[in-house]
Amino acid sequence: MRSVINYIKEILWGVRTLWTGMRVTGGYFVSPGEIVTQKYPENRDELKMFEGVKGEVIMPHDENNQHRCTGCGICQMNCPNGSIEIITRKEMTPEGKEVRVIDKHIYHLDMCTFCALCIKTCPSNALAFGPEFENAVFDKTKLTKILNQPGSSIKKDIK
Ligand code: SF4
Ligand code: SF4
Repeated sequence: MRSVINYIKEILWGVRTLWTGMRVTGGYFVSPGEIVTQKYPENRDELKMFEGVKGEVIMPHDENNQHRCTGCGICQMNCPNGSIEIITRKEMTPEGKEVRVIDKHIYHLDMCTFCALCIKTCPSNALAFGPEFENAVFDKTKLTKILNQPGSSIKKDIK
């Protein structure tokens, strides 16, 4: 007799918990309020990513195609995965002084774990996370990127 009572109690408990869940779902169905989900990829054209999204490491450039990278190599040394390669070259200033400039800041997105060490340790604040996240490719060499743009130069106030 006791086991029958327990059995009925369990059924009633199950119905109650089911009702609780369905009440939340039903309420949202009738009156959704603020919609937080997005219809991706249908909304690709108007999709706005949230601030702070870690899509990939980027090197911001200003409207004069200037960046903040000195080519010091600290990001390369600090990256735990070897995702960054810095290639520099020497240039002569108009005053006849030889200076190091970045030739290529190579970023292997396929090896990046988005730990942000490169961004946090860059003394010039030259790197950031960008929101681009659609990085599925058939050819993984496409995930190797040159972060300094063609023809770009360093901002004058960066030493
Ligand atoms: S991104 Fe920053 S840390 Fe890396 S080479 Fe350029 S200045 Fe140095
Ligand atoms: S985010 Fe981390 S893993 Fe990715 S390039 Fe920077 S240091 Fe390397």
